[in-house]
Amino acid sequence: MQLITVGTVAFDRIETPFGVAEKTVGGAATYISLAASVFLEKLGLVSVVGDDFPEAVMGQLRDRGVDLAGLEVLQGKESFFWAGRYHYDMNSRDTLETRLNVLLELDPKLPSAYRSAPYVMLGNLDPGIQAKVLDQMTERPALVVMDTMNFWMDSAMEKLKEVIARVDILTINDAEARQLSGEHSLVKAAQRILTMGPKYLVVKKGEHGEDVVDPTGAGDTFAGGFIGFLARTQDHSFDNLKRAIIVGSALASFTCEKFGIERLIEVSREDIDARIQQFVDLVEFDIELTAD
Ligand code: AMP
Repeated sequence: MQLITVGTVAFDRIETPFGVAEKTVGGAATYISLAASVFLEKLGLVSVVGDDFPEAVMGQLRDRGVDLAGLEVLQGKESFFWAGRYHYDMNSRDTLETRLNVLLELDPKLPSAYRSAPYVMLGNLDPGIQAKVLDQMTERPALVVMDTMNFWMDSAMEKLKEVIARVDILTINDAEARQLSGEHSLVKAAQRILTMGPKYLVVKKGEHGEDVVDPTGAGDTFAGGFIGFLARTQDHSFDNLKRAIIVGSALASFTCEKFGIERLIEVSREDIDARIQQFVDLVEFDIELTAD
């Protein structure tokens, strides 16, 4: 395996000013794996679903090269469910409901092929489960990236901090960086978080793109594109981390164009390259420096 991802595989109910999706497939590990699969051939997913989860979606994941040996299916149980509502600016959202369901029973046992994966993505879920995944790695991975959210800061802060101390890169949004550090200034928040263990912190500044229909999964898609690109290039230099941020952001912009995973599932490398080129064109400019 080049990359293993742990995180939720879920059903979401999403309300935006443009419509409602009553029961769409989501989950951090779903978005991350689909995004990373653009760059990798051998990736594994560690999670749990109930027997309500559609076999067709598992087929779509397998078609993209995502190995599901680490996905437990619990008979007679319901998958993780999250409901959220976006405000008119699409930049802030309220969680209306989180039903952990099968997540309460997940005690991950990594298939042996997963235990020596050089890249590990700890997607958003219970930090206790994230820790159990790290505990089972036979060698220190080349890179461990972690994502989390306010839900786990509210309910499991101490455990969360233990896991943060073990990762190389943490990706969270601005509100979460403030909550984790207790600092309002993002610069101070970042300085504080960097004393907690990670070498790098990526603060996601939300979704300001065009054509935003549903931002759900943007953060996870970003993380999947980011680590997928790093795993493909195997270059962890600061310059390449910056490239990985652009690649992850380009991928996330596709996720926002439709509800759920609908758009991400059909994205090609050519689509991504075209979007990156648009961005390069936008930010490239000639300027004369003003000092004599
Ligand atoms: P994002 O928009 O990238 O922050 O992530 C949205 C996804 O996170 C949705 O598909 C949800 O199923 C999933 N999610 C929501 N709450 C949680 C939680 N507390 N733990 C793990 N995953 C969650």
